[in-house]
Amino acid sequence: MKIHEYQAKELFRKYNVPVPDGNAAFSVEEAKESAANLGGFPVVVKAQIHAGGRGKGGGVKLASSMEEVETLAGQILGMTLVTHQTGPEGKLVKKLLIEAGQKIEKELYLSLLVDRATASIVIMASRDGGMDIEEVAANTPERIIKVYIDPLMGIQGYQLRQVGFGLEIPPAAMKQFSQLLSNLYKFFIANDCSMVEINPLILTSDDKVLALDAKVDFDSNALYRHKDLMGLRDLDEEDPLEVEASKFNLNYINLDGNVGNIVNGAGLAMATMDIIKNAGATPANFMDVGGGATSEQVENAFRIILDDDKVKALLVNIFGGILRCDIFARGVVDAARKTGIDIPVVVRMEGTNVDEGKKILDDAGLNLTSAFDLSDAARKIAAAVN
Ligand code: ADP
Ligand code: MG
Repeated sequence: MKIHEYQAKELFRKYNVPVPDGNAAFSVEEAKESAANLGGFPVVVKAQIHAGGRGKGGGVKLASSMEEVETLAGQILGMTLVTHQTGPEGKLVKKLLIEAGQKIEKELYLSLLVDRATASIVIMASRDGGMDIEEVAANTPERIIKVYIDPLMGIQGYQLRQVGFGLEIPPAAMKQFSQLLSNLYKFFIANDCSMVEINPLILTSDDKVLALDAKVDFDSNALYRHKDLMGLRDLDEEDPLEVEASKFNLNYINLDGNVGNIVNGAGLAMATMDIIKNAGATPANFMDVGGGATSEQVENAFRIILDDDKVKALLVNIFGGILRCDIFARGVVDAARKTGIDIPVVVRMEGTNVDEGKKILDDAGLNLTSAFDLSDAARKIAAAVN
């Protein structure tokens, strides 16, 4: 689960990770109030969306007077901000962060991530902050420092110094930097983060270090033990179909192809997407109804995929195990009665109670094409869309 920069900075303050003074604003009036509270200029007006690259896209602007705050807040609120992370359709800006402008001496990059390969937390840092870190990683990987933290040992003093020296933090700021990184690590662990990224972390002309930007991603599977964090979720920033699917505990991810698919089991879903691609078509989604889906979940899975205009055909691939084929078939029939199926649907069904399942589908008189195996299903679905 991602959160906004202003929310991340509020959490940083609680963990003594220094950030500039600032406040969120949801209207031009509030933006002016926040700016007045900062007690001086320049202030920075920052669009709050769950995507980076806002600066380049025109969503981060410096204001040196109250009139400018008013103009810029008016321009940015309600704009559709397009960045390399939003996709071409962009993102509507509904929130702002009004923040004290800082005197930047140097922009650095600092992030913490879960590294699966080494089962540790990796700290990544670079002197080349502020710009696209992806480019630095691709062209000059030697300019990225990586330090691996054993989660059982926690972060050690020598590792803090390793990162600090690597970033060439001046001696006068070293102690403050070490505290910042150590506190950031505590924040990461205490909240089950999967990623924290500060780009840029700045050095000011008076040797202070501050997080000027803040991106935080929490491990959604651990959210059940952080009830306080759940309130930070912003549904405006999420795909509406994915939000709908999450209400029914369906594992659904919206993709950009045109073949919808409904599968039980994540591994089978991945294999089904591969086989669709292999047959010359592209999946419109990942949908795992889960091993033990109820017929209500199946019905909702159908409804969500059929609601998606880009879906031109639907492939259903069910291996009846815990989810029996007859239960599944009942869900399909209910969904078809309620929603109506107006696109070609290919069904491949195997496993527990398959004959009963097929009978339920046959008796319902729905316009379904059955496939005798997976490659047959892939061929038929590709033929339907191509
Ligand atoms: P994004 O990464 O989405 O572009 P940032 O928060 O990193 O957004 O802001 C982009 C740039 O704007 C920063 O690299 C920095 O140069 C400048 N900036 C952001 N906040 C401030 C601030 N409080 N004071 C001065 N400059 C800022
Ligand atoms: Mg940034």
